[in-house]
Parts: sequence; structure tokens; C-alpha cells
Amino acid sequence: MRIVLLGAPGSGKGTQAKILCEARGIPHISTGDMLRAAVAEGTRFGQKAKAIMDAGNLVPDDVMLGIIAERLAAPDAADGFILDGFPRTRQQAADLDELLDQLGVPLDAAILMNVDFDVLMKRLTGRRTCSKSGQLLNVYYSSQSDIDAVAERGGELLQREDDNEETIENRLNVYREQTEPVIDFYRKRGNLTNVDAAGSIDEVNARLVSALG
Ligand code: AMP
Repeated sequence: MRIVLLGAPGSGKGTQAKILCEARGIPHISTGDMLRAAVAEGTRFGQKAKAIMDAGNLVPDDVMLGIIAERLAAPDAADGFILDGFPRTRQQAADLDELLDQLGVPLDAAILMNVDFDVLMKRLTGRRTCSKSGQLLNVYYSSQSDIDAVAERGGELLQREDDNEETIENRLNVYREQTEPVIDFYRKRGNLTNVDAAGSIDEVNARLVSALG
């Protein structure tokens, strides 16, 4: 199964991709996670990427094409994958088409996760990660016991550097201007499926599972 997950920052692509990939035994390919790993390694490329990401802008298309081409050619992607955060521009969507053509494999579906703006803002501004376990939490939605458990295991609640209000506003503008055209790209080709991404993680997962068939 080869799937592209589309949706605004905060729509839950990462959370849902992780669950679906674990259930199906296919890799979760998140370009945001790959870039954050490069930043953490402190390479020259990572330093350049960090400045772009901290501002909420996009890493250039040709750079992203190189990253994704290498990742899709890895053996674990041969039987399927879920792409989270790629493609983010029309050019990246065209590049992905060409890449999959070369690999001789089709994309099964592009799934658009729809959420209202006020929910996106709460999900993004409230998002935290446990420094010990990597567990994703949200200060507005997680149970008090889950939040307390972080301190009990000696962890801290970390916030992504690009989850501050100023950067979030730019990320949402960039999404409207550069990523929404990607939705049209797949809609015109007839392989876009809309999923209501409001509600709990379990509710959204159930809708995705039923949309994927
Ligand atoms: P994400 O974790 O998907 O929200 O991505 C975090 C940041 O990484 C984005 O705001 C961009 O700066 C960068 N990024 C991730 N994926 C892409 C992509 N496909 N094209 C360009 N920049 C990207």
C-alpha cells in the first residue's frame, strides 16, 4: 500500500501515519522527521535546514527530491509506505509521480485529513513530546495522568521549536499558498479521499482504516 497523507500542520498526519504503519508493517516516511534528524546531527545541511524550519518555510524542492528519492529506493519501502509531509508543493507532487513511475509502482491513494482552523491551532500550540519516551502529548487533550507520568519517569515535556505562534502562523500560510494546490493535483486525477480528522486519535484512525478499505 502506497499512500500520501495530506493535511495542514496539526491535522494529525504524523500521529495517524505511525499507527497505520505499525499495523501494516510498512515504513512511515516523514520528511519533517528526516529533516529534524539532520538538524540533530548538526551537519552543514542540518544547520541550513534548521533556519528554514524555524521560520516555518519550505526546504527547496530539489533538495527534498534528493532526500525522498534515496528513501523510496531503500529496501524497506519496496512493499509500501505512508508519506507524511511530502509532497508539499505541486513540483514535489510531479517529482513524486516521476519517481514512482521510474520505480514502476503506482500510488494507491492520497488522503486529505480535514480539520477546522481552531482545532489545528490547539493541536499545534499544545503539542509536546516526552524527552524520555518520545511519546506525543498535548497539554489541552492528554489526560492529567499521562502528563504526570512524564515527570514520574524523569522526563520533560518538550515543545518543537516551530510550534510557537509566530512560526505556526507562517506554516499555515505556507500550507495555504504552496501545499493546497497539491490537493487539487490529486483531486483532478481522481485519487483523492477526504477524511474528517476532527475528534480523538482512535476516532480518526477508525475513519482512515475504513477509507483505506
Ligand atoms: P513537519 O514535521 O511535516 O511539520 O515538517 C516540519 C518542517 O520541515 C516544515 O515546516 C518544513 O520547514 C520542513 N519540511 C518537511 N517536509 C518538507 C517538504 N516536503 N518540503 C519542504 N520542506 C519540508
